[in-house]
Amino acid sequence: MSRDSRATSPRPPMPSRSRVAVIGAGAAGLVAARELLREGHGPVVVVFERAAAVGGTWRYDDAASADPLGAGAVHGSLYASLRTNLPRECMGFLDFPFLPVPGDPRRFPGHREVLRYLEDFARRFDLLRLVRLETEVVGVRRRGASSWTVSYRSRKLAGAGCDGLEEEEVFDAVVVCNGHFTEPRLADIPGIDGWPGKQMHSHSYRVPDPFLGQVVVIIGYNPSGMDISRDIAGVAKEVHVAIRAAPAEIPSSTTTRANLWLHPMIERAEKDGSLVFEDGSRVKADAIVHCTGYKYSFPFLEEEEEGGAGGGGGGGAGVVVSVDDNRVGPLYKHVFPPRLAPHISFVGLPFKAIPFPVFQLQSSWVAGALSGRIELPSPEEMMMDVVAFYSDMEAHGRPKRFTHDLGACTFEYEDWLAERCGREGIEEWRKAIHVKARARVWHRPESYRDEHCDDDDDLLDQAHRDLAKYL
Ligand code: FAD
Repeated sequence: MSRDSRATSPRPPMPSRSRVAVIGAGAAGLVAARELLREGHGPVVVVFERAAAVGGTWRYDDAASADPLGAGAVHGSLYASLRTNLPRECMGFLDFPFLPVPGDPRRFPGHREVLRYLEDFARRFDLLRLVRLETEVVGVRRRGASSWTVSYRSRKLAGAGCDGLEEEEVFDAVVVCNGHFTEPRLADIPGIDGWPGKQMHSHSYRVPDPFLGQVVVIIGYNPSGMDISRDIAGVAKEVHVAIRAAPAEIPSSTTTRANLWLHPMIERAEKDGSLVFEDGSRVKADAIVHCTGYKYSFPFLEEEEEGGAGGGGGGGAGVVVSVDDNRVGPLYKHVFPPRLAPHISFVGLPFKAIPFPVFQLQSSWVAGALSGRIELPSPEEMMMDVVAFYSDMEAHGRPKRFTHDLGACTFEYEDWLAERCGREGIEEWRKAIHVKARARVWHRPESYRDEHCDDDDDLLDQAHRDLAKYL
């Protein structure tokens, strides 16, 4: 048994094979199901998925939300032209290589290929039989010391004339994998209420056509902001991108398009249509596209009633987790609420990581903790770790919204998880390819996906040699 540290307080025993509910069948939910099967939880693993098919984010949806600044009923946030921002050999799960399809050898494939990869993954590991499609989880409620009532609504019930009716089932554990690229976060711009232009969040952006001939301001310069600004620059009169970076840090090499400019953030909006940037420059714009990220949201998690089954270990009895300025907490290492571990867990919260491998390692940890193969620290120890992490962030002036931003710590986190799970960590070639890809996105956003650099060849050879064992 691998062990984090000495346990000091008992927690309810887990049956070594748990009945587990997984919420969501995107990349995180699928790999969670796979790791649960691998760990022997097979007999009752149910993956609830509200959409009509698996794949989550990677199912491109032509439809956008009716409110261009809201989420509405639309889950996906992909735009038509999207290609991955990580090379395929780095992006794939650890033991299921993301191979090129015949006719498309590109290392940064389009979104349809990612969906096909996830569908192949689900078929390869016989996961589809676990997934209940068109079944939305509407409630997760604690029941006794160590089980959960999951309430859901399914299309099947609606089809039988029982629309609005809920069913419920009891599970030993719940793994939350509902994604976090659906609920838009908006930039706060003084004066925006009186500003006459159109606004949209990148969640609703699909194609550039509506911006033909317009002056457009994009807010945010993460990979989506970089892509969307270029997409729109192909048809718009002018594109101005507002970046949260000191002017000296804004790379001049990024603006190779004659109609695209980078600026500091917007200071205010004015009634005549002007947007004024922090350096005093201004443009009269027709539209703003907010590429400003998303909010975590878990509308199905129910609060425990007073005197309910909670208690001990800290972490606010009553709520499973709270979301405060995009900090989901308290969570030990982004996965377990200390008071309730391992009976409920969250897979897929970190960002600025290599998502699929991180989801896989988190899932492996969860599955091992549920079977008892991996021992977790006591609730008190986990809570102390969380408190220390939050204090450290505060001491370094890092706002709460960066809690799940792994950034420079991503490899450390992945290696830590791998060690807990008794698995090999992230391969050195994968780390090196990731670091290079990240640097290129920032410096050459127009061309990084199609560049060939000789110094990649050795790394790619290593990757192909290593991944060959899984073919
Ligand atoms: P999702 O894919 O969002 O899946 C969540 C699933 O949960 C959905 O199917 C949803 O329908 C379901 N669900 C939600 N609520 C409920 C409920 N109540 N009941 C039942 N089901 C529910 N990652 C990369 O590795 N490489 C990239 O190049 C890359 N590019 C990206 C570009 C964009 C524009 C975006 C938005 C993200 C990108 N990502 C990329 C990150 C990507 O989101 C992750 O790779 C990953 O797909 C997230 O998987 P997930 O399972 O956590 O969430």
